[in-house]
Amino acid sequence: MTTIISTTKMKIVIIGGGFGGLKVARSLNNKAGFEIYLLDKYNYHQFQPLFYQVATAGLDPSNISFPLRKVFHKSRNVHFRMAEVKEIVVADNLPAPPREPIWAKESHVTGRQGKVVTDIGDFTYDVLVLATGADTNFFGNQNLIDNAFPMKSTVEAVRLRHRLIQNFEDALSAKNETELQRLMTVVVVGGGPTGVELSGAIADMRRFVLPKDYPELDFTKMKIYLLEGGPKILGAMSEKSSEDSLKYLQKLNVIVQINTVVKDYNGKIVTLQSGTTIESAMVIWAAGIKGNIPEGISKDLIVKGNRIKVDRFNKVSGFDNIYAVGDVAYMETEKYPNGHPQVASVAIQQGNLLAYNLRRMEMKSPHIKEFEYYDKGTMATVGRNLAVVDIPKPKLHIRGFLAWMMWMGLHLVLLLGVKNRLSVFSNWIYNYITYDQNLRLIFKEFYRPKSPFPSEGQT
Ligand SMILES: Cc1cc2nc3c(=O)[nH]c(=O)nc-3n(C[C@H](O)[C@H](O)[C@H](O)COP(=O)(O)OP(=O)(O)OC[C@H]3O[C@@H](n4cnc5c(N)ncnc54)[C@H](O)[C@@H]3O)c2cc1C
Repeated sequence: MTTIISTTKMKIVIIGGGFGGLKVARSLNNKAGFEIYLLDKYNYHQFQPLFYQVATAGLDPSNISFPLRKVFHKSRNVHFRMAEVKEIVVADNLPAPPREPIWAKESHVTGRQGKVVTDIGDFTYDVLVLATGADTNFFGNQNLIDNAFPMKSTVEAVRLRHRLIQNFEDALSAKNETELQRLMTVVVVGGGPTGVELSGAIADMRRFVLPKDYPELDFTKMKIYLLEGGPKILGAMSEKSSEDSLKYLQKLNVIVQINTVVKDYNGKIVTLQSGTTIESAMVIWAAGIKGNIPEGISKDLIVKGNRIKVDRFNKVSGFDNIYAVGDVAYMETEKYPNGHPQVASVAIQQGNLLAYNLRRMEMKSPHIKEFEYYDKGTMATVGRNLAVVDIPKPKLHIRGFLAWMMWMGLHLVLLLGVKNRLSVFSNWIYNYITYDQNLRLIFKEFYRPKSPFPSEGQT
């Protein structure tokens, strides 16, 4: 299947309905002059900052996921397709279109079409926006890929939850002390916000929830490690945030080890670069990400972190109609000579500006703007009543209960959908009052293999 191009409207294909791609699509929603195809391999937007609460049974996956079709119920020009992109065929590799689109005359873009190849068919584009985000980077270690748990999608967060709880079920029938200790040891690798939040949330489970669920187990034996390769945790935040979060984790009895590099994990034993080993049945990998780049993008354009080099307009070097935003994009500016942090606010701001610039281009206006990141601050939560916040202007460091309230407020505001906000808020209130969550369910059916018979109409 190949979609037909309209010569009167600028046809934009956006790959990825995450923070960046969704922002572009929403900003161009119902804007005359644009025909938008939004493609994502999932049919929902994922709110990654709260994955760790799904993984630790604090929230239901549906609370932090939002159907992409629902966002565009009233749209006349945004079409969603659940499609996994396999390859980009850039304009230079396709024959020239029979006639130049009307909007392209004197515009910034030439109107040469390219093509996106997906598992449901091909989509031609006048303008392509890559907003494919990033995936876990295991640095090519096959043992880690096979045995450690990543957390870069809702499905992975649910899998993690399943194993976390299953290990305590298994611990009840452990054959010996070594096996029991292994099942009751959790190792989180990576001391960035994800690692800190996860280890803190698991420590809260050990404090308030697990001893009630498993009264036959001795939870003084449960060990939670947070291993960080660098010299401090929350390395991208202020010194104070790093120190405070360390104090909080130590208060929660998390064993934090800095300058500690994980070399291998075989499903039972974690081997550190120092040669030391830790027996654990649960290793969570939060130690690196790499950009998701579809086939067809020249290797010359890919820079560190597997990101695509873009200019200050988010335009991919060497193209006039391909853009990249968010985690997959690498832009150097005076303020950010090593690229921007891979966080939601960068993706949202880039998506917003790109939509603005595309509108200007469609109007043939020469006034397009360069991207400048406005950093409103960084935050991380460690556990109940414990969080750290850094605000750059005015320079402020906030910690403890106030920071925790700020963290919750901001995440509620950013979450998509009123129902999701209400569900998350009521869950948080319930958890706060009862010191409990009630989502510790193990859906074994989750692992059922896919039907071998493709449904009708599928290619
Ligand atoms: C656990 C965790 C916690 C985080 N916490 C925070 C936080 O507290 N604050 C913060 O600011 N940031 C946080 N981040 C980072 C933030 O989520 C990302 O920076 C942000 O999601 C990037 O937005 P994006 O649009 O570039 O990519 P994403 O939001 O990742 O969206 C990419 C989309 O592309 C789709 N996609 C990818 N490949 C294909 C393909 N081949 N075909 C079709 N679709 C495809 C994916 O399904 C996805 O929907 C966190 C990230 C994680 C993993």
